[in-house]
Amino acid sequence: MVQYYLPVGMRYTTLEERKQFYTSEFDLEKVAQWFKGSLGKTKFAIIMGRHTKIFPEKYKEDAATTIIIDEYKDLEDLRQQILDFLPEAVYYDRSVYDECDRKTGQELAFDLDPENITCPIHGTLADKMKRMQGLSFCELELEMVKQEAIGLYDFLTNRFSEVKAVYSGRGFHLHVLDLQAYKKSIQQREELAQQVKSAGFHIDEWVTSGEMRLIRLPWSLNGLVSRIALPLTKKELESFDAVHDERCLPKFLSQKATF
Ligand SMILES: [Zn+2]
Repeated sequence: MVQYYLPVGMRYTTLEERKQFYTSEFDLEKVAQWFKGSLGKTKFAIIMGRHTKIFPEKYKEDAATTIIIDEYKDLEDLRQQILDFLPEAVYYDRSVYDECDRKTGQELAFDLDPENITCPIHGTLADKMKRMQGLSFCELELEMVKQEAIGLYDFLTNRFSEVKAVYSGRGFHLHVLDLQAYKKSIQQREELAQQVKSAGFHIDEWVTSGEMRLIRLPWSLNGLVSRIALPLTKKELESFDAVHDERCLPKFLSQKATF
């Protein structure tokens, strides 16, 4: 069994805890605010147990599959569908579509993950992969990736007017919500990704180029680490502590059985 290391207190979420979170804690009003009433044809997606191998027995065959949810009446209906799957992760599709399901644009986003950080203790991503610890990370890497997120936030606000940061449970996402950014071509996105990398940021190019169109849904539960994906202002980001900040701690973490 390979040792999977995470910052203190972070761990996989059980099915029962996922159920508890999505029943009573998942905040649909905040999700609606994220989309600013322009939910429109937004597609969602879930993965039940690709990494955690924790999933409802009845869905064993599809446990590692990315399942797209593009038919739902409203967010409450979305919640009900999530409660059926009890997934380890919930995403939304950054691509926007017209009435005929034709892609008309895509939200621009940047993904900073701690495993891409070269850690003085755990080494490079290649070192971690060799030990089968590609998804592991430590508090030091989390702090380093946070500093990158702050720097990237500044880099982006010099070029765009509406930038939002989200703590994803592992690393950080930066979303650019300017209309002109939605219209960028694949080539322009790739160029921007190269610029950002040249400036020293360890981003996942697939997300910025748009090849990976899914991104974690803010306010959903990251079942790999038991943390809520949390939007943060620049100021909040600067003092953010993912281990202790109560806003990203699901309630079940403090409801340990008493003896
Ligand atoms: Zn480390």
